[in-house]
Amino acid sequence: MEPRGGAPVRRSAPCSSASGRPRISITLLKELEYCPRQAWMKYNTNYTEPPTPSMMLAARVDYRAVASRLNLPEPICYERELCNEEYGVCGRPDIVAGERRRVVVEVKALDRPDGRIEHFKRQARYYAWLVQTTLGGVWKYALVVGEAVYSWDYTYWDTLDVEYSIERAIRLLTSSTPPEPLESGKCSYCYFSKICNRIPIRSGYSIITA
Ligand code: SF4
Repeated sequence: MEPRGGAPVRRSAPCSSASGRPRISITLLKELEYCPRQAWMKYNTNYTEPPTPSMMLAARVDYRAVASRLNLPEPICYERELCNEEYGVCGRPDIVAGERRRVVVEVKALDRPDGRIEHFKRQARYYAWLVQTTLGGVWKYALVVGEAVYSWDYTYWDTLDVEYSIERAIRLLTSSTPPEPLESGKCSYCYFSKICNRIPIRSGYSIITA
């Protein structure tokens, strides 16, 4: 299968948070699980990927209808931009509901008949952490996958675990050398395959200036 789109498109280099740490989006943290090398390229090169079919589908989700279906408490915010300046992590949780006992909801448009939702759950937990460390008061985080709804209590251990994962992600993304290629089936339809094999794996190499 041909990679999506044409040649990867240039974008500006990543900026820094108030703490001086590089800014990292929660979307990028999620993408690390798909392919660490691809996430590294998105972070370190001037290339960006056009919207994927799932992104375009997500843009059509009616979050107000989801909030009504879940009977979420007021006030409710949709896609509010939040940034944890200490870690330099930013994101826009789909839904944040309530004030003192907040519920953070991540919405996926399509069902997962195979029941594999662990990566979605981790993304929802990243958003819950972002809300907890910026607004506070997170009680639960929830995941809507098509018609299915899952929810979990948010605990102190979630905070510790997410922060440990973020530290690891920052080390990987800011490394001067990319992770090794996956060489799996994912590569055949990866947008970055055109430049992936041109990146040598050697110490001190950076393609920021490529
Ligand atoms: S071509 Fe394969 S190894 Fe390279 S970024 Fe894409 S999925 Fe990862």
